[in-house]
Amino acid sequence: MSEFHENQTLPVIPLRGLVVLPGESMRCDAGRPKTIAAMKTAMTNEGIAFFCAQKDATKTELKTEDMHTVGTICRIKQVLKIQGDGMHILVTGLARARVEEFTSSSPYFEAVVSPMEDVKANPAFAEAVRRRVMEQFAEYAKLSDRFTSDQFNTVLMKTDVGEFADTVAQYTLIKVEDKQAILEKIDQQERLEALMPMLAREMEIMRIDKRIALQMRQSIEQNQKEYYLREKIKAVQKELGEDTSKEADELFERLEKKKMPEDVYQRVYKEIERLRAFPPGSHELPMARAYIECLLDLPWTEQTEDNLDLAHARQILEEDHYGMEPVKQRIIEYLAVQKRTQANSGQILCFIGPPGVGKTSIAASIARAMGRKFVRMSLGGVRDEAEIRGHRRTYIGAMPGRIISAMRQAGTINPVLLFDEIDKLGSDYRGDPTSAMLEVLDSAQNFAFRDHFLEIPYDLSHAMILITANDAGNIPKPLYDRMEIIEMPSYLATEKLQIARRHLLPKQMAKHGITRALLRMTDAQIQSVIDEYTREAGVRELERVLGAICRKAVCELDEKPRVVLSTRKLREYLGKPKYRRETPAGNKVGVATGLAWTSVGGETLSIEATAIPGKGNIRLTGHLGDVMQESGHAAMTYVRANSEQLGLDKDFYSNLDVHIHVPQGAVPKDGPSAGITMATALVSALTGAKVKAGIAMTGEITLRGRVLPIGGLREKLLAAIRAGMHTVILPEENRADVAEVPADITDLLHLEYVSEFGQVIPLALDDLPATFHAGQINDIPSPMPLSSAMQ
Ligand code: ADP
Repeated sequence: MSEFHENQTLPVIPLRGLVVLPGESMRCDAGRPKTIAAMKTAMTNEGIAFFCAQKDATKTELKTEDMHTVGTICRIKQVLKIQGDGMHILVTGLARARVEEFTSSSPYFEAVVSPMEDVKANPAFAEAVRRRVMEQFAEYAKLSDRFTSDQFNTVLMKTDVGEFADTVAQYTLIKVEDKQAILEKIDQQERLEALMPMLAREMEIMRIDKRIALQMRQSIEQNQKEYYLREKIKAVQKELGEDTSKEADELFERLEKKKMPEDVYQRVYKEIERLRAFPPGSHELPMARAYIECLLDLPWTEQTEDNLDLAHARQILEEDHYGMEPVKQRIIEYLAVQKRTQANSGQILCFIGPPGVGKTSIAASIARAMGRKFVRMSLGGVRDEAEIRGHRRTYIGAMPGRIISAMRQAGTINPVLLFDEIDKLGSDYRGDPTSAMLEVLDSAQNFAFRDHFLEIPYDLSHAMILITANDAGNIPKPLYDRMEIIEMPSYLATEKLQIARRHLLPKQMAKHGITRALLRMTDAQIQSVIDEYTREAGVRELERVLGAICRKAVCELDEKPRVVLSTRKLREYLGKPKYRRETPAGNKVGVATGLAWTSVGGETLSIEATAIPGKGNIRLTGHLGDVMQESGHAAMTYVRANSEQLGLDKDFYSNLDVHIHVPQGAVPKDGPSAGITMATALVSALTGAKVKAGIAMTGEITLRGRVLPIGGLREKLLAAIRAGMHTVILPEENRADVAEVPADITDLLHLEYVSEFGQVIPLALDDLPATFHAGQINDIPSPMPLSSAMQ
């Protein structure tokens, strides 16, 4: 180093992103005019110049303060001209030096520089650190596999600690800042200490780098392997004449024609590629195919244009259905709102009524009026959530749920979806379908309905959802809260006649290919079909019977030009009448007629009571529900409490058993409204007074004889008419409800209102005991205690 003395003036060559350490040789390019000029001067002085790093490597126009003042005195050993004015040079670092003063910056930088001598380290300490660094370096060399043993030995043989540190740094450090820091440390001990963490970091980076490189290589190898194997499978399959790629191509063609959101497209695309790779016999193939086809079949954007012309809608509703005025009106209002708001209101209409009153068919008419597709699905008996929401695809034979299947069937995103019989939705250990239905009905959630099979959320919010049920009471409460209920009551015989004449018969005749010229049926004949062959709240059975008539007529038309129906022919076609037009039986002891209301409409209920010698026991038979049993006991208690006024022995019950029976029928026998009927049958049986014929009654009874109101009035009155009753006894408190029943119905009956059971007796019973005085009976202070034998 001694060849350089203090305060020597040298040309300065700034380096971009490089630091030359003493003892280091390196190649670099030079192109900037100032650098070229500096080099030229250097070449006149054995190639000696001062090299220092730029503080910011990106800068091209430099000032003196842009350069580090600690640099290296170097010798330029080789200069090669390259393209243009550029040079390629080889330099070797000779000594650390610092700038004392810049003396010029044009045509090149020039400075007065002084060499910097190393401050020697304590030998023992220096040796200790040197060994540590040597270990690190050995490890580094192993990791980096680009060191030759020569290079390694050069490092090993450096005895001077300062030179040793410079050489290690030269081989290992990459960052300019690191090298500059090493360059600036003239204290050998500090230089070594600074080197250690830098080396450790470089090694860590190298390890990470290696790991990434390895992963990349592995993944490339894996891809190549898979590609190779796939190609091989294809070749084998082709040889064998079995190939999934043809199928994949076909599916792909369908995919290209289908409009769907980008994420769904990507999903299908991937699945098709997966399918392409399956060997033909693979058991996964059918499932993969089913899934792709489901996604391709489902509507994602397809839509029908809504017809919201109200006049047109009304015309269609009128065309398809007779009567049903309130229902039609409500539907028109619904459409009007939709038209004005231009949006799906999210309002869910639920039609409630007995079977066969046209709930399903009015829903179909709505779809027809709006020009939407119509899909109906029955929820009756659905207990498993998977039926609504589908099975996960890991199941063998997995399928989408009913909702997605319905959408697939509809083929448009805005169909009318009808969920039938929501009141028959069950739930058990297989999960609760109600919660899945909730998601369907809730407009805040149904834009992303989740089906387990589909996996991708599906938007149901464009669909119009309609619901039917027989009995509002059985609809799960959370679902009920989201619907608007529209009641569809049962039909009067006169309405049925009109429906049959205008709709059912023409429909059935068209279905069987016959015209009015070929088959004549009079109103009277239809009426007799209604009365004698059907007994129902709706008209479904009626339609079926009319269908049967058409069928028989078609056979006969094979031989005759036309068929004229007669009473005899009806008998021939349909057999003996199933139901008699009821003329109520004559007055009877112990038999009273009650009225019940069930989900299939109103029914009459004949209640029988008998007294037989015994010990005061009461028996109730006929598969009665709890509430009915309680009504029986209440009726008995009342009769006992009033035995005197009723002309009975005070202790009549001590030597009698009473048996009340409700003959079995299809009617579920529960509900309290048979109270006064039971009591009437009981009084009649005990007193021997006959119950008047043609009288039906309904009302709950309390222990003190008060008559409480009942529900299902309209249906009950219709049942009474069907059964040929002329008078109905009703609770006083139901008087207001009667006002809401159409006059067509109430006009056909004589209605009596009662608030106390005492009032029922003179209305219902003939030949009352001489001791009975109406009015007295209500005056008893309180019911007598029940004897234990009577309970
Ligand atoms: P629900 O769904 O209430 O059980 P449906 O809709 O199946 O009843 O009706 C049964 C049959 O009766 C259908 O063919 C329907 O068209 C017909 N129908 C019911 N009510 C009427 C009506 N008011 N006018 C015309 N046809 C009716």
